Amino acid sequence: MSKKLQTNFLGVHWIKQRPFSDVTDPLGMNLRVGARLGAQLLYCITSVTQRARYYSFLPWCMMRYRDSQRGAPGAPGMVEAVFHREKALAIGCVAHHEGETCVRGGVVGSRKVVRGFAEFEGKAFTPSRVKLVQDPALNVYSASLVNLGLIKETATEAPAEPGEDADDEASVTSWNDVELTDLGVDVAKSYEAAVSGAPASRQLDDPTRALSWQRAADWASVGGYCELATEVAPDREVLLDLFFCRRGRAARSHELRRQTLLLILALARHLEDEGGPLDATAFMSAVYGGRVEYEDGPIPTVVPSQLVDIAARWKAYGAHVLMTTALQCLLSHVASALQANEAHRVSLAELAQTLSDPALEQAFVKNTGVRLPRRFGELTPASVNEALSVGDLGRNKPEIAYSLAQDRLRDMDVRGGPAGFALGLTLAGLVLEDYATWKDEDAGIWLAKCSNDDEDVSPAIMLRRLEQRFGDWRQTTWQDLTPYLLRKFVVGLHSNLAYEKQGRLLQLDGDQIRGNHAFNDVWADFPRLRSALTILQDLALLEEGEEGGLRLTVAGRTVLTNDLGECLQ
Ligand SMILES: [Zn+2]
Repeated sequence: MSKKLQTNFLGVHWIKQRPFSDVTDPLGMNLRVGARLGAQLLYCITSVTQRARYYSFLPWCMMRYRDSQRGAPGAPGMVEAVFHREKALAIGCVAHHEGETCVRGGVVGSRKVVRGFAEFEGKAFTPSRVKLVQDPALNVYSASLVNLGLIKETATEAPAEPGEDADDEASVTSWNDVELTDLGVDVAKSYEAAVSGAPASRQLDDPTRALSWQRAADWASVGGYCELATEVAPDREVLLDLFFCRRGRAARSHELRRQTLLLILALARHLEDEGGPLDATAFMSAVYGGRVEYEDGPIPTVVPSQLVDIAARWKAYGAHVLMTTALQCLLSHVASALQANEAHRVSLAELAQTLSDPALEQAFVKNTGVRLPRRFGELTPASVNEALSVGDLGRNKPEIAYSLAQDRLRDMDVRGGPAGFALGLTLAGLVLEDYATWKDEDAGIWLAKCSNDDEDVSPAIMLRRLEQRFGDWRQTTWQDLTPYLLRKFVVGLHSNLAYEKQGRLLQLDGDQIRGNHAFNDVWADFPRLRSALTILQDLALLEEGEEGGLRLTVAGRTVLTNDLGECLQ
């Protein structure tokens, strides 16, 4: 997947003036419903909190500060004190890895050390003086540390156990009042057990003292981010307990995270047993399409009965992400059509008319292998979807949708080509038709509940509106559906969100659309999933296989069998 976006950093992108070429998420689908769904499925594991050991290292930094610095004359504040240790470990990790950053990345501050390696190599440094990044990792991880119950503010009420609507809004208002909880102390002590033999761990209690390159490296060799998995790390078990809800909070949102992690492990085991590795794409293909395509054939998904509910929720999230891709492709098409038009103005009807362009036919065949019985515009979603599933023997409609989004529409040449417009609509039609079959099941209702705001758009909202407007929308021609879809869910949605600071690509003027800006950054993804895969590797439950992709470790198999109550095999 091509682009990394800090989707869970709500608001960060919107408060800055950005050039038009940088417009991201112009329909707000990633940041609104998408972020809500992701936050519930992987509570406390955000797109930017991807290394498991931060969850023990940061509490340890706070414990050392509390025990050795706080209250002493000239002592820094807690955030500053934690930041000093973070910087020392970032340098230590690069020293330990001889100039490389940690293998799965995500270490705040290490990039600068790698880039300026010659300046750093072999030299002592003073943690309080060295500058690597503007902000400490603590800022990024703090909400998760609060939500996991590792730290709390003494001056405020303990946060309520989050319900299903929980997201990562918990934040620290004043670091002066922050204390470790009992669980936080346990976690901190387990990291202490890993590093107490390294002199640097004590020396850092005075951050104005120079730390030698070698001592920093020695510390990282036992307390680094990768070493949680490679050594028998004392903090691994307690972190496992934390992420898998054996200790600490056990509210619904934590339970959903536990189930998600187990689902990843279960699919890794299943795919491995059938001869296929796991990665983020395989995971989503398994939960959305019901099987994963490998070079030597497909592997159908088998989900343990205890995880059927969480798998259905991931499928619902997948439906939203695929719809995001579809709508962004349509927006991209409209923007291109406006740029190509001299007056930078086209009507909704003119755009719909292009769906009957004869040139579309060949391009559609080229991209799908399917020759449509009539012009695309004259066909209905039901007939196009049917033609695809007949033409694509053996694959069900969700699989066709997933592969359209993942393999075809990610390619700018395809979505910008003569069939791009029709393929975007087809993807939307496939997702909606499938969603209609499970909308009244728990996961379908959950998806509808997550899109409860007037400005939210999700498959649930689209289906409802289409049914209200057209009745049997599946039997309405694309020619008739398209102006409505574009007005309501593409151009109108983009205009309504009015991200003034980010800029408006185009706007509606009666039945005309006006504008002259390109939009090519079609992007929809599952940002927290990547972090979860890294955290599971950090916890030594998954490891990289020899042929790429991930496979289950012995420890991973044990967690799975124990947590699912299966007989040990
Ligand atoms: Zn490392």
